[in-house]
Amino acid sequence: MTIRPLIAGNWKMNGLAASLGEVHALREAQAAPACDVLICPPATLIGAMVAAVQGHPMMVGAQDCHAAESGAHTGDLSAEMIADAGGSAVIVGHSERRADHGEDDAAVKAKAEAALRAGLIAIVCIGETEEERDAGRALDVVLGQLAASLPAGATAENTVIAYEPVWAIGTGRVPEIADIAQMHDALRDDLKDRLSDGASVRLLYGGSMKPGNAAEILAVENVNGGLIGGASLKAADFGAIIAAA
Ligand code: PEP
Repeated sequence: MTIRPLIAGNWKMNGLAASLGEVHALREAQAAPACDVLICPPATLIGAMVAAVQGHPMMVGAQDCHAAESGAHTGDLSAEMIADAGGSAVIVGHSERRADHGEDDAAVKAKAEAALRAGLIAIVCIGETEEERDAGRALDVVLGQLAASLPAGATAENTVIAYEPVWAIGTGRVPEIADIAQMHDALRDDLKDRLSDGASVRLLYGGSMKPGNAAEILAVENVNGGLIGGASLKAADFGAIIAAA
């Protein structure tokens, strides 16, 4: 089965209006990408980035959402607001949010369900810490996170799973290819058991993916794209990863 890969960029808390120049450069360099492309800038740039990608297949998303549709939640954004701003997707459960904001699997699941309610693609992040891997618990932890944070109503169209080992994010360290393959195979088997179209759900790898290692990682069976932090900030690097896909 052919699954169209997704290359998604997570700008985290980086980017000012001037950074949109990278998006203009990217759309020129990658006029017709052979994969789906998504950038999730900080919320301040969503509207301007949606305008900057008009006429190009690149999508724009957000890095988090609240589970509720509206209400007294100072500083938060609802999935409906992201959709209203022209967003197509939202990342939920990134390990930085799990760590910095105490988000647990139940909160992540509620946010993913909010994304589906608003018609957004939910990108659900899961991944083990270094301690958990060293203790031989990586598979158990990650499959447990998947079971507890997969939204009700998930399909291959509306949900993407991003496997991101916490110790590989922003560190320049990447798991052995065999370890990525083992995890993605286990996730695929699990999704096939849970969802009627689980064979088609996109499984992204995230964690220090760069132009230099992207082709090897993206060639792994059951890796259907990447979630990219640091290397998504520069058009040249992100474009090279898109080209590798
Ligand atoms: C991320 O934040 O999701 C990520 C994968 O970051 P980096 O590519 O910088 O490791």
